[in-house]
Amino acid sequence: MNNTADVIVIGGGIIGTATGHYLAKKGLKVYLFEKNYLTAGSTGRCICGIRQQFSTELSIRIAMESLKKFKTMHDELEQDVEFHQGGYLFLAHDDEKANTYKNLIAIQQKMDLDVSYIGVREIEKLVPGISTVDLLGGAHCPSDAQANPFLVVDGYAKTIRRTGRVFDHTRIQTITIDHDRVVSVTTDRNEIYFAPTIVNAAGPSIRDVAELVSLEIPIYPERHEAMITEQIERFFDMMIVDYRSDGCYFNQKWGKGSIIGCYTPVPNVPGKDTGASFMFAREMGRRMARLIPKLKGIKIIRQWAGSYSMTPDGNPIVDCTDIEGFWIVGGMCGHGFMLGPEIGWVAANHITEQTCPYDMKTFALKRDFLSKEVMK
Ligand SMILES: Cc1cc2nc3c(=O)[nH]c(=O)nc-3n(C[C@H](O)[C@H](O)[C@H](O)COP(=O)(O)OP(=O)(O)OC[C@H]3O[C@@H](n4cnc5c(N)ncnc54)[C@H](O)[C@@H]3O)c2cc1C
Repeated sequence: MNNTADVIVIGGGIIGTATGHYLAKKGLKVYLFEKNYLTAGSTGRCICGIRQQFSTELSIRIAMESLKKFKTMHDELEQDVEFHQGGYLFLAHDDEKANTYKNLIAIQQKMDLDVSYIGVREIEKLVPGISTVDLLGGAHCPSDAQANPFLVVDGYAKTIRRTGRVFDHTRIQTITIDHDRVVSVTTDRNEIYFAPTIVNAAGPSIRDVAELVSLEIPIYPERHEAMITEQIERFFDMMIVDYRSDGCYFNQKWGKGSIIGCYTPVPNVPGKDTGASFMFAREMGRRMARLIPKLKGIKIIRQWAGSYSMTPDGNPIVDCTDIEGFWIVGGMCGHGFMLGPEIGWVAANHITEQTCPYDMKTFALKRDFLSKEVMK
């Protein structure tokens, strides 16, 4: 019957499509449902950064493995994904930050990450025109990267279509369970599709989808705004992270020269509102020009908003729930694009009961959520 799959995936972002891709590569028939168009959620709203500089061995390892998958993606997906290794540079404007980076670099270097602490002179060479006011140095990892999320998701969806189907503009409205195990989903076109395994990868809406089966999960949406500028001549290669509380982070798009960036509002703004604000555009312009004065006057050509999906400890959830066959894969805490390939691979292995090299307790739905990722 063509209304029956091995696995149903809800959500057409990086997490849903990566999970579907790796399941399909194992020969499973995957039906993926996206209420809008593929990438319409956070994935198409991200600023494309891929980094490996994290604070715990687990996060660093996942990020390094994910980067390896991005590196070979061109061949694996048989299409270009605009992957470019221009690096990430975390700036230190006070001693506390500098010491934090140095301590973390020691952990990261032990894991063979090509990261080092560099001084102001070197930073000036990497980012000509950067303001050195209060600047002490920075953590630089040249193998960190950027890629195009639209091309990545498109490539993953192609794999899913080889053995299954991708339904866009199709919202899952109900999930039917029988004797505590999943049976089927019903779409907003009143069509029913059956599978013994259903993966909730609905990004910022993951709680809403879990509520369809009366489950409450600890993932909360947090609103973030972003912008892109007109194209200018390329003069730096890496994602620059100004880690001051009123800082920002931005990158110059490979090949095109536009600057794409955002900042984390303090305090955080809960919710899924995707409306863009003038306040953000003005503030982002001010923060960028404070860091690189020659950017003053550059035109912002588009701005938007999206949401991070936050867990209390900053680590994702990849786990089956008490309802047999109902999986949660999400809570990417603002790192879903960069970690997506590896998390999709982990989810596919976990679902098919194949071993993976991580302690899956770290991704459990029922964990204590006490540890914290420092490099947010
Ligand atoms: C401004 C901004 C900048 C960011 N920058 C970066 C970055 O540089 N690097 C990085 O790694 N991460 C970044 N992120 C985070 C990253 O975008 C997310 O972690 C990642 O995209 C999450 O992917 P996802 O697949 O879980 O969610 P999504 O991409 O949101 O996908 C979930 C999908 O589920 C669909 N859906 C929801 N409910 C239903 C339903 N009932 N039926 C069918 N479909 C449904 C939604 O329409 C959506 O498309 C950024 C995020 C934002 C907002």
